[in-house]
Amino acid sequence: VSAQGGSSTRSVPVTSSRRGYRVEVGHGTLPSLGKAIQALGLGPRLALVTDRNVLGIWGGPCERALRADGFEIHALPIEAGEAHKTLRGAEALYDALVQAGLGRGDTLVALGGGVVGDLGGFVAATYHRGMGFVQVPTTLLAQVDSSIGGKVAVDLPSGKNLVGAFYPPALVWADVGTLATLPLRERWNGLAEVVKTALIADAALVSVLEASLESLADGTAPREVLVDIVARTAALKAKVVSEDEEEKGPRMHLNFGHTLGHALETVTGHGPLSHGEAVVVGMRAAARVSHALGSLEAEGLDRVLALLARFPRPQGVSKPSPAALLEVAARDKKALVGKVRFVVLDGVGRARVERSLPPALFSQAAAWASEDR
Ligand code: ADP
Ligand code: ZN
Repeated sequence: VSAQGGSSTRSVPVTSSRRGYRVEVGHGTLPSLGKAIQALGLGPRLALVTDRNVLGIWGGPCERALRADGFEIHALPIEAGEAHKTLRGAEALYDALVQAGLGRGDTLVALGGGVVGDLGGFVAATYHRGMGFVQVPTTLLAQVDSSIGGKVAVDLPSGKNLVGAFYPPALVWADVGTLATLPLRERWNGLAEVVKTALIADAALVSVLEASLESLADGTAPREVLVDIVARTAALKAKVVSEDEEEKGPRMHLNFGHTLGHALETVTGHGPLSHGEAVVVGMRAAARVSHALGSLEAEGLDRVLALLARFPRPQGVSKPSPAALLEVAARDKKALVGKVRFVVLDGVGRARVERSLPPALFSQAAAWASEDR
């Protein structure tokens, strides 16, 4: 599908109290994954965890390249979708690892989106109290967000990501060439986090996105631009999680648009809206809140709303009640009892945490999110 990576590959360092690692962003770099794994002293036995969609497209090229480099590959496919990111799904992988005779000294390679990374990482963190772990994210969302920061988890029936660990990978290998086969809606889903990152931390990236948002979504953007955007977004996430591993201060900025976004996902039943679609609505409301607080002037608000208006409107989602949204958002762990902590924009490309959002403005924000169409 793609040529060699080479010159345009970008290496983003992530520091961590457990171990530092790098996010390597390039185009057409999947064939070189084996060399990078060898350079870390991992292998030669690898468990390749991937979902059935990704297996059918990228599993073959990935396995062949790794075999050519002398690795022994055990492909462990899982079903695609968040519904399989469960303890039961983890147990099936543990059984498969036992069957394959793999142990603590071996390495699990998670090839896929956030579901594969979270579940594969959770299994890598816990099998034999921890085995080697390499992330090969193949969705835009995973390349810029979920593969970075060391969080791994599975869901419980009562909520998402309720059982998990901090388990940084030894390496994140992001080949943006794999995004060529990603469905359009999944690309917009990832672009929501890219826009979020730009809005909270990188005014120059906001300008790049204003110039090229649709071409990034439909895959017509030049590959250098795609590499640049993934690398810059990954670098910002890497910087924040490196400085703030335990999620006390700056890491909270990454929650911009997420208090109401998560509430929308919950109230609409985690189905009709993708995460990105919900976060776009949450960001629109949060931008209005920022303006109401005097943090974002009218011109900045217009600019943010114009950029967010370019995302496709999700179809067929019934209007959530503002009261339900408010209740769920206030219950969110990001909201302290009595006081609502809320991430607002402090101009375009900067964020801050508002430590006590006036309750009336919080209700207003829920109403905005509810009415958003
Ligand atoms: P996310 O990273 O959005 O949390 P998931 O792991 O749920 O993602 O993946 C979203 C969907 O995209 C899944 O159906 C998955 O099988 C599919 N997928 C992942 N990567 C690719 C790819 N490179 N090409 C095509 N489909 C992919
Ligand atoms: Zn998010």
